[in-house]
Amino acid sequence: MARFLNCAPSSGLERVTRRRLFLACLALSGFIYFLRGRKAGVGNKPAISPLLESQAGGIPKERELAERAAQYLNVTSWQAPVVWGDSALSDRRREDFSYQTFKTGLVVFVVGRYSQYLLRFMASAESYFLPGENVVYYIMTDNLRAVPDLQLPEGREMKPIHVAEMPEWGRLSRIRMSLLAGAIKDRIQREVEYLFCMDVDQEFVNLVGTEILGDLVATLHPEYCGMPLYTFPYEKAEVSQAFVDEGEGDFYYTSELYGGLCAEVYALARACSHFILQDSEAGFHALQYEESYLNRYLINQRPTCVLSPEYSWWDSPRTLEVPVQRIVSVGRQCASLEPQKRAARRC
Ligand code: UDP
Repeated sequence: MARFLNCAPSSGLERVTRRRLFLACLALSGFIYFLRGRKAGVGNKPAISPLLESQAGGIPKERELAERAAQYLNVTSWQAPVVWGDSALSDRRREDFSYQTFKTGLVVFVVGRYSQYLLRFMASAESYFLPGENVVYYIMTDNLRAVPDLQLPEGREMKPIHVAEMPEWGRLSRIRMSLLAGAIKDRIQREVEYLFCMDVDQEFVNLVGTEILGDLVATLHPEYCGMPLYTFPYEKAEVSQAFVDEGEGDFYYTSELYGGLCAEVYALARACSHFILQDSEAGFHALQYEESYLNRYLINQRPTCVLSPEYSWWDSPRTLEVPVQRIVSVGRQCASLEPQKRAARRC
């Protein structure tokens, strides 16, 4: 050390040791600086954040608190029911609809390689989606030959609708709402009373009955249900039509499943397609694609029926545990798995 201080010339071995000592000091000061920076950063978040982080730090504790909060979520602040399939409320809703006659449409887009999911989707829907009710499946596809020829029971039918080939998701996500609005206007509105829209890379794994019907229906995103508002991935760019200001919003909804009365879904699809068009003309596209515009719309027009994450679920450390999984997103599930586990989950 004395040598180090008086800078006397040193041997090769001593030079290496000194270099290591110097690097260790540098790393230690970097680490201390990083810790202090983190502490300061926590203070910038809204009031709820320090409370959550001081209890355990980071997402897992927030997740645990979210689970507790979600357990008691049966009605929204604007008195819309939050639907959990096995509740007394859902029994009552199924009972109410059992006296009515109506037809429900289910729209899925099946473009390009997504045709691989269609058979699994259809087979599971026939087991669990509104069993015994009148259902029309609208398959919006660029490849009519990829639509399987399934024999469905009376009252249930499949209607493929041809859409132009779209080579990539970026383009499809810009045009899907406008194609949906067009299809509703041209034919669907004359054929069904209720309409739901789903991603095709999903599977029904349990009963999804008439408890899901309502005027305007949205589904809670399983990763954000029960989480504080500031964690929601709303669009933050003020230039966007999807922009959500600080403090605005109630829930974060998934685009994997939404629906309602045909006229309501048409209004939603039309408004979202206008938002998307305006943004595209300005050279902008929201961070979460369609989901951002859907969430903006659902802040303006609050849903009259909110489905719990039982109706849109996948297994990941960030998703809320639910009493019964009813619809599982195969795509999002597979994306959250390590490559070696994907085969076991039929990815
Ligand atoms: N989709 C499609 N072809 C594509 C991309 C998407 O048909 O090339 C449809 C399909 O119904 C899919 C949905 O759009 O389920 C949403 O796409 P994706 O699941 O990739 O989006 P994510 O839900 O992961 O954001």
